[in-house]
Amino acid sequence: MKYDVVIIGSGLGGLLCGNILSREGYSVCLLEKNNKLGGSLQTFGRKGCIFNTGLNYTESLDDGQILNQYFRYFGLIGKLKLRKLDENGFDIINLPSGRYPLAMGHENFRETLLKYFPEENNGLTNYLETIRTICSSISLYNLSDKPFNIMECNSLGIGAADYIKSVIKNPILQNIIAGNNLMYAGHDKKTPLMIHALINNSFIESAWRVVDGSHLMINILAENIIRNGGTIHKNVKAEKFKTENGNVKSVLIDNGEEIEGKYFISNTHPEQLLSMIDGLKISNAFSFRMNNLEDTIGMFTLYLVFRKDSFPYLNYNFYHYNQDNTWIVGEYNQDKWPQMYALMPTATSKSESYAESASVLTYMHYSELKKWENTKTGKRGDEYLQFKKEKSKKLLSVMERQFPGITSCVDAYYSSTPLTWRDYTGTRAGSAFGLLKDFNKPMESVILPRTKIPNLFLTGQNTNVHGILGVTISSVITCSEIIDIRHLIGKIRNA
Ligand SMILES: Cc1cc2nc3c(=O)[nH]c(=O)nc-3n(C[C@H](O)[C@H](O)[C@H](O)COP(=O)(O)OP(=O)(O)OC[C@H]3O[C@@H](n4cnc5c(N)ncnc54)[C@H](O)[C@@H]3O)c2cc1C
Repeated sequence: MKYDVVIIGSGLGGLLCGNILSREGYSVCLLEKNNKLGGSLQTFGRKGCIFNTGLNYTESLDDGQILNQYFRYFGLIGKLKLRKLDENGFDIINLPSGRYPLAMGHENFRETLLKYFPEENNGLTNYLETIRTICSSISLYNLSDKPFNIMECNSLGIGAADYIKSVIKNPILQNIIAGNNLMYAGHDKKTPLMIHALINNSFIESAWRVVDGSHLMINILAENIIRNGGTIHKNVKAEKFKTENGNVKSVLIDNGEEIEGKYFISNTHPEQLLSMIDGLKISNAFSFRMNNLEDTIGMFTLYLVFRKDSFPYLNYNFYHYNQDNTWIVGEYNQDKWPQMYALMPTATSKSESYAESASVLTYMHYSELKKWENTKTGKRGDEYLQFKKEKSKKLLSVMERQFPGITSCVDAYYSSTPLTWRDYTGTRAGSAFGLLKDFNKPMESVILPRTKIPNLFLTGQNTNVHGILGVTISSVITCSEIIDIRHLIGKIRNA
């Protein structure tokens, strides 16, 4: 059978493109290599607890805010149960010099930090004005139907850390403002102000957890595609494209089948896309760029199962740093690991008082995993299991200092490394957020959805900004290569 659109990968980007295009009457076929849909939105269960993997909290979901409107269009509002984090401190930044809340609402954010840094009124006002202006200047963050071109954003060429230093005088406050930069693997010498602004501004608007697991979001999005007449295949790995007259004609999958389409959308890491179009018409510059682009660092995640009613449910994320510098990636030091961690309890409908489980995230350099590079999930051997156990214990021992007794609340723990991510999502070297955007080379580090092959497009975190809002917008940008952007934005606005 020939489909209008074949989508490779069922991460959020693939699922959302499938939703948009099937709703517009295109016959859609979605291919996923895993036995579970969702890519980084997958959850897993242990001892009756749900663990989120790549969606711990999300943003701008109050009525009238940007992700709320996109989620309405995708049929998620009203079906997903969401819990708003603490308005007076959705993120707590814990430094040796003190514990500081990041509050929701721009005014509340400013007023809360002014209690600790009363001399920084002008700096905080300027900072908030800047991040708001950056967001309002980017069309799809405001549902304006002007063409979206990430390369036109001046703030892509400005360093986030440099900008913060230029408006905020107090070094501790400079670091607090960037205190949740794990959410974008912030690098003080590389991260563009645009990335920081889009993510921070959206979380300051409002921050939420999905209750009972992010797989519920996947289920709704997959059901929508099926209801619109689309087809979804799991356990199917796309391996190679076949071309005809300069266009992709079909994709070959690992069971030997060939699936034909009019348009093809890849939700995979661009390097993987390149390997699939090996030998076909694609610009050498694109290949060169792809093979030389850096990826964001990967994560080690510790998944904790708590004994019943033993550890409080924290309605905030707790970012701990061993030092007052919160820009860890550039200073990553294996001997000092973990230099920071973020504790993010899972929101469940069973209790709002006690946490059933939690994820603890910290960075991990791929070089530490090199010796297991050629192994597959579940078959890496005892040495790897021992490595993970030691890392888990080390992380827990650091957490004991901020949460005395936490170890005794833990019934069981599990962990994942960048290798786990590499094998589940196909990101290069298990990178957390895909390609790294670098303000020193803003144009080179941005990948657009359009390729040199007219009917082949990219979507997902590599083509815009990562994260739930970033990938949602990326799916709209990708689909606007196939359908009229004004028509689509009109529908989203009126949802
Ligand atoms: C540890 C961690 C925590 C995070 N926490 C948050 C958070 O709290 N909030 C937030 O907003 N964001 C968070 N993120 C980021 C967010 O999860 C991602 O940016 C987003 O989900 C990426 O979606 P995507 O569509 O780009 O693709 P992915 O999720 O990477 O999915 C790609 C899909 O393509 C499939 N695939 C790959 N190759 C093939 C092939 N050849 N054939 C078929 N299928 C293929 C993969 O199996 C996968 O399902 C987190 C990320 C990480 C790593």
